[in-house]
Amino acid sequence: MKALFVASECVPFVKTGGLADVVGALSSALAAEGVEVRVLLPAYPAVKAALPASTTTVSPGRLPGGRARLIAAEAAGLDILALDAPRLFARPGNPYLGPDGKDWPDNHLRYGALCRAAARIAQDGLAGWRPDIVHAHDWQSGLVPAYLKLGTAKAAANTPPVLMTVHNVAFQGLFPAEAVPALGLPARGFTPDGFEFFGQLGFLKAGLVYADRLGTVSPTYARELASASFGMGLEGVIAHRRAELSGILNGIDLETWNPASDPLIAAPYAAGRLAPKAKSRKALADRFRLEDSGAGPLFCVVSRLTRQKGLDLLLEALPRLLARGAHLAVLGAGDGDLEAAFAAAARNNPGRIGVVIGYDEALSHLMQGGGDAILVPSRFEPCGLTQLYGLRYGTLPVVARTGGLADTVIDANAAALEAGVATGFQFSPVTAAALGDAIERACDAFTDRKLWTAMMRRAMKQPVGWESSAAAYAKVYAEMLEARA
Ligand code: ADP
Repeated sequence: MKALFVASECVPFVKTGGLADVVGALSSALAAEGVEVRVLLPAYPAVKAALPASTTTVSPGRLPGGRARLIAAEAAGLDILALDAPRLFARPGNPYLGPDGKDWPDNHLRYGALCRAAARIAQDGLAGWRPDIVHAHDWQSGLVPAYLKLGTAKAAANTPPVLMTVHNVAFQGLFPAEAVPALGLPARGFTPDGFEFFGQLGFLKAGLVYADRLGTVSPTYARELASASFGMGLEGVIAHRRAELSGILNGIDLETWNPASDPLIAAPYAAGRLAPKAKSRKALADRFRLEDSGAGPLFCVVSRLTRQKGLDLLLEALPRLLARGAHLAVLGAGDGDLEAAFAAAARNNPGRIGVVIGYDEALSHLMQGGGDAILVPSRFEPCGLTQLYGLRYGTLPVVARTGGLADTVIDANAAALEAGVATGFQFSPVTAAALGDAIERACDAFTDRKLWTAMMRRAMKQPVGWESSAAAYAKVYAEMLEARA
């Protein structure tokens, strides 16, 4: 089976969040399921720089924003189709934001062009290659099924089915109504049953309405998305299509994230040989200038600093963490007020709290390798990856009971401890008080070395790779093809 992935991010070329990890890792993992994936990406400077010189180019025809060409190349083990439209994509740095920190004003044209190109490839094929299915990821690819379905009925019947996966419903791709003609979309689609969203054009809304099947990245988030508390205005559309929505957990790349071979941690370790983890803990404490006596746990945070991630709650709960003799290392970037508040917390608690503002992939490995526990107090979390890395590295997750966090961590309550299945700590509701309680429970558990070590070993053995999820995606693709037959 052949699948065309359409996405705006993909590791190792361009990443602002978990979407990139998933697109890169899932496309590789699907090979084992007999699915041949090509990934269509914008040719941002970082993507172009990573492509080998010997590539083939094809014209996808006229797109919103002008002419473009497609570069077909293999890079980092992936089969890449890069949409080269310099006027749209030759901009370094964050893919979505200009130097002023605001969205690029032509983002509708940029990602409209990506979607139009994808629809052309789906319909006409590319040098003898035509996908059997299209897998669209997040709002940047939401218009793909709209372009396919809103053409002529005959053309629509001949096009491959589309799976639309929502990685985060908070990012919807909303643009003024004037974008509709600019993108060559028919006015008849601008209705509540089509791609209109409260008077605006909604890219993700279009994807949810016109795709053949819908997906998201955990079973709990699939249920949450159909509710007003989590659906962010799209709950009605999603609830209406609930039977066609699959919640499939993300996995992680088990080679990149392997404590037994990770070159970015101080010393390799494994479930059966935990002692060397202490070396990474020491390196981590040094890096964050923590005066670590080892008496309490070393908590870590690796996150975008935004309201979604609930880190304002952590700021509130800090006195309780400190009162228990614990330490905290934070790596993150995002909202200015949160960055400033964490920097101030570090200044006010030297030796106890360390903060690095910025994005640092290598340091994120050392944190998973050296931390005792990883804090993920998200208000909502479609799947979450850092708690999965935490499990793999025996860095026990302390998480809000929401979305994929609820699906991947087993809380150390009395029943789970008795049954010997606990892998971390969950809290609910998502408040500073409940987070503080969970931090204290973790501190209590940490004093019982036997218990903590047993939890670490169990966490490290939990399957967090792509195997079963890639099989689940392949099954959805097969069902989509059957439904068409
Ligand atoms: P989201 O996609 O909502 O940001 P996820 O947990 O799904 O959250 O994925 C976040 C990814 O980005 C993880 O791979 C995490 O390690 C990484 N990450 C987040 N912030 C940073 C940072 N400041 N430095 C390095 N890696 C980061």
